[in-house]
Amino acid sequence: MKILVINCGSSSCKFQLFDMETGTVLAKGNADRIGIDGKLSYKSSKGVELEKDVELPNHKVAVKLVLSQLTDPETGVISDVSEISAVGHRVLHGGKYYSESVIVNDDVKKVIKDCFPLGPLHNPANLTGIEACESVLPAGTPQVAVFDTAFHQTMPAKAYTYALPYEISEKYDIRRYGFHGTSHRYVSHRVAEFLGKPYEDLKIITCHLGNGSSFAAVKDGKCQDTSMGLTPLAGICMGTRTGDIDPAIVPFLMQREGLAPEEIDTLLNKKSGVLGVSGVSSDFRDLAKAESEGNERAHLALEMFAYQGKKIIGSYAAAMGGVDVIVFTAGIGENTDTMRSAMCKDLEFLGVEFDEEKNAGLRGKEAIISKPSSKVTVCVIPTNEELAIAQETQELVSNK
Ligand code: ADP
Repeated sequence: MKILVINCGSSSCKFQLFDMETGTVLAKGNADRIGIDGKLSYKSSKGVELEKDVELPNHKVAVKLVLSQLTDPETGVISDVSEISAVGHRVLHGGKYYSESVIVNDDVKKVIKDCFPLGPLHNPANLTGIEACESVLPAGTPQVAVFDTAFHQTMPAKAYTYALPYEISEKYDIRRYGFHGTSHRYVSHRVAEFLGKPYEDLKIITCHLGNGSSFAAVKDGKCQDTSMGLTPLAGICMGTRTGDIDPAIVPFLMQREGLAPEEIDTLLNKKSGVLGVSGVSSDFRDLAKAESEGNERAHLALEMFAYQGKKIIGSYAAAMGGVDVIVFTAGIGENTDTMRSAMCKDLEFLGVEFDEEKNAGLRGKEAIISKPSSKVTVCVIPTNEELAIAQETQELVSNK
């Protein structure tokens, strides 16, 4: 079975074609700068690698182009689009409606649309991607929506309710939703498998540390809490996002700086986080370099990130009544040994015996980085959101 995974952003259409029998990626790429100047990048398992300028006026044309690239007689990997059994779409927001992935029908499309106000940048693009695939693939090819929010829908009300007037929360569906759900689900399942322990018996804290970063507390096989909220701005400070701040700062700054809602939104989402604090970069590699050259604000930003992460780990251990496994994933979690070490520092009281030797230099592979005697097992598990989307898609269409 071959499954195409599509991740449509406002001006891009990233894709990966999986052969599910072998679990391999046959081809991947991005039809980027849609509505601007159009670029296609493409890589195949046969060693083809290309980048070209293309006309991409809209997402439908982008999806058409992706399909014609995949079926190209010379550089493609399949001979006909009918070889694609199903398409899995990454969808940002499923609101309170979906706790699982679903096969797309009119009701699902309506929910994705109803959630536009909750994911104004992503949901419209996600829906456009689905509709573009429907219009260019053979009729009846199943489209599956895999929501970033779904895994967190098992949170209890005490974890997802904000202390706002209840009627207001209800009126606008304001609550904690959480994001990176596909990644948290994938690494929490994978770490249980990797350790040979039953998923349902574990208390796991998953730390997805990338440009956007979030944590999840997974107990008895269910997400119990997560650090992002109504939007992906909440939780730990990130590349360019504030993370949690005193909400009174928002009206304070709007008044003092005379900022409109869109302007404060840009400040909080794009100009803050470790970029805003350091004044150097949102990229942790740049920050590490600046810190090593004596830049104090880069040092402060990295210290803040580690400290805030540690506090979330501690609070989730308290929320779950303990923790068995801490797992690091995504760009920073998989590659930055110093950050993993800093976040686990002084957690001996929780039962963490961190192994500095195993951690040092470890990049991008599954490993245990705590000592054998450690009560809490600390691991690195590389995330693979595209594969997870393909697997969920396969599961759904096979059970249809
Ligand atoms: P996104 O949220 O955009 O998917 P990633 O998961 O790719 O982000 O994470 C991006 C962050 O990970 C950057 O801060 C970058 O510095 C860090 N990172 C990515 N790759 C590496 C690497 N090989 N070594 C060190 N840090 C890395």
